[in-house]
Amino acid sequence: MGLIRSWVESANRDGCDFPLNNLPCGVFSTAGEDPRCGVAIGDFVLDVAALEEEGLVTLPGAPYLDVPFWNDLMEAGPEVWAALRTRLTELLAEGAKDRTEVEPHLVPMAKAELHLPFLVSEYTDFYAGKNHAMNVGTMMRGAENALPPNWLHIPIGYNGRASSVVVSGTPVRRPWGQVKGPDHAVPAFQPSRRFDIELEMGAVVGMSSQGPVTVAEADAMIFGYVLLNDWSARDIQGWEYQPLGPFQSKATATTISPWIVMKAALEPFRTSTPARELPLLPHLQEPGPMLYDIPLEVGLTPEGGHETIIARTNYAEMYYSAAQQLAHHTTSGCPMNTGDLLGSGTISGPTKESRGSLLELSWGGKEPIAIAGGSRSFVEDGDTLTLRGQCKGDGYAIGFGDCTGTLLPALKDPYQRS
Ligand code: MN
Repeated sequence: MGLIRSWVESANRDGCDFPLNNLPCGVFSTAGEDPRCGVAIGDFVLDVAALEEEGLVTLPGAPYLDVPFWNDLMEAGPEVWAALRTRLTELLAEGAKDRTEVEPHLVPMAKAELHLPFLVSEYTDFYAGKNHAMNVGTMMRGAENALPPNWLHIPIGYNGRASSVVVSGTPVRRPWGQVKGPDHAVPAFQPSRRFDIELEMGAVVGMSSQGPVTVAEADAMIFGYVLLNDWSARDIQGWEYQPLGPFQSKATATTISPWIVMKAALEPFRTSTPARELPLLPHLQEPGPMLYDIPLEVGLTPEGGHETIIARTNYAEMYYSAAQQLAHHTTSGCPMNTGDLLGSGTISGPTKESRGSLLELSWGGKEPIAIAGGSRSFVEDGDTLTLRGQCKGDGYAIGFGDCTGTLLPALKDPYQRS
């Protein structure tokens, strides 16, 4: 299937993130109005809350859209998700008969403020990219012991903090934390000196579950995907992570893109996880392709400077799909809820230029990378980091919008009360 042409001309433009094939879900507001659900089309946000109110969009069980989150619609299930896409495609397609009623509800993207697109009920982050795990493991334990013994059998994860998830554009403050270098006898409390990013995709769980689900059931539960930057304080992480995993090093902020790209828009880009050296146990095997071919990049812009693309890779590099991660998450009977967010784990490719964190790109700070006007080992104050993802379709693209954040300097005294 090629480009579905829209009467919104900017949606037909070559390389546009938001053609009619995409229809990603966000939450927006304009000056003086409350945040509500919107869908991106070309250079506009379509006010779908207004369309629902005017009866141009009628979904079973509605209303869903005059709220500042997509959780209600997600909870309604895949038939309602599909009905929304069908109706919006009808309204926005070239030659649509309702064009004159829809057109007043297009808000220029430049005039819209974008908010978190859903209420994040809980957040889990995985460690499921093999190149990343090999790189980090090699730095920490040597190449022979790089992968922990469980790594080829389960997608390793930890429970993160939903409260720390922020939308693209939100500034991130360099954290303080307890650190201890190998040459120091005692730990110190200080601003993180090795603050980093992790290039990830986030899967948004649409349907809840009780008890274990199969990989196929897990895939059906997923509503869509976002870009995700798991900001990480490596020096804090190095001191705190054993034996229970990362804690404060990952709790400062996790930035997601403002648009949830629905699974339906990603269907043409489905691909399988890579060949395995050891077979998975049956309950984690994929019944079909459940990963996606999504080219990804990371840009770094110093304060007042120019952007350098520091990494290019692809979501297809993952060793486990989000469906496998979600299935594994439920094996204990762990209930999953609408609005659960699953981070894929850092997505690194096999080459140096395709590593999804500065830790790997600069090899633990030993080999700083060149950027326009300087070099970097880790994120510096004032740096803006931008994640992008765009699937290349036949005559169209599917994008997520920028997932961006600027690092603010650490507070002089984190305990000072104003
Ligand atoms: Mn991570």
